[in-house]
Amino acid sequence: MKMSKLDRLGIEVSKLGFGCMRLPMKGDAIDREQALAMFDYAYQHGVNYYDTAWPYLGGTSEPFVGEALSRYPRDSFFLASKMPVWLVESEADFERIFEEQLVRLKTDHIDFYLLHALSKARFDKVLEQGLYDLCRKKQQEGKIRYIGFSYHDPAERFPAIVDRYPWDFAQIQYNYIDPHLLGADQLYQTLESRGIPCVVMEPVRGGFLSTLPEEFNAIFREYDPDRSPASWALKWVASHSNVKVTLSGMSSMEQMIDNIRTFEGDLTMTPAEEQVVDTVVRKILDVHTVPCTGCEYCMPCPFGVDIPEVFKAYNNFKLFRNADMTRAAYFERLKDGFRADSCKKCGKCMKACPQHIQIPDMLETAHREISEACLTK
Ligand code: SF4
Ligand code: SF4
Repeated sequence: MKMSKLDRLGIEVSKLGFGCMRLPMKGDAIDREQALAMFDYAYQHGVNYYDTAWPYLGGTSEPFVGEALSRYPRDSFFLASKMPVWLVESEADFERIFEEQLVRLKTDHIDFYLLHALSKARFDKVLEQGLYDLCRKKQQEGKIRYIGFSYHDPAERFPAIVDRYPWDFAQIQYNYIDPHLLGADQLYQTLESRGIPCVVMEPVRGGFLSTLPEEFNAIFREYDPDRSPASWALKWVASHSNVKVTLSGMSSMEQMIDNIRTFEGDLTMTPAEEQVVDTVVRKILDVHTVPCTGCEYCMPCPFGVDIPEVFKAYNNFKLFRNADMTRAAYFERLKDGFRADSCKKCGKCMKACPQHIQIPDMLETAHREISEACLTK
């Protein structure tokens, strides 16, 4: 297992982190047997960074991770979890959730503690409630070792959060396609220029980059028939010097074995490999998508449409053509009333959109194309 030195923190972490938001399931419950075997495989192969959060798997991830890791010496791994900022309305809420997390995780401290899924609006709440200072208090009590945050908002709002506090680390979404869609290079460079260690989530973009259409897979296979599309995506992320941990939300032993093989190998991208990835990126981007940045200036829609989420699902559908994942994103995660077919074409949103998107027309197109592709199967 390749390791990263975190000089500022004086520790070494495995470059591959086990993201515990997509553990294998049997019906509605975690497939305990397979998941425990995956923990053992990861641990025995040198993975020492395990990431969970309060809401993962409907709240069952933290207790399971606590149980799985309690089988190993506490000082032999690093545990990461997160404060669900959206649930905190008072110091008492923070205290109650944090103490329950320690119980769930069967531990007296959390090594890497993050304020979860910050956006500008959520960061305003962090400031109002003094949540960073509450984390510092826990740090002084020895219950948190390092304080960070994870980020889910457009790149231009990132530096204001990064520069507000002396963060020990930060977690961003980064993969070989997002620099072209979400300005993700800007996020990475902001952290690198300030010497803040970077943990990466979504290196395979929620699974899209490991289930690419065959024409893209063929480009990777032609270069190396033995490497999976996921291993290309992970290696691209891990080759960046300030990416200290790449989190992979593995949901099968097969994925675990493949990912560990990637992180036992050379993580430097050769110029020829960079070229292969560039070719795939250019082909993916050839597809016409809606230029929505997810800024949410168009929100709220008076009729309930979640405009940015609809365009996100539609763009992923256009780019990666994965009907199953699109059905889950559009028809399962977006509930009735939030989808594009609730649009009444009032036009309010268009006045606010800096990208000048013809939102009502594009919503109609998105709903029609997604329905045709996903409901006819
Ligand atoms: S045009 Fe449609 S999406 Fe836009 S605000 Fe009106 S109802 Fe909502
Ligand atoms: S539709 Fe326009 S305003 Fe709405 S999130 Fe996308 S880019 Fe922003």
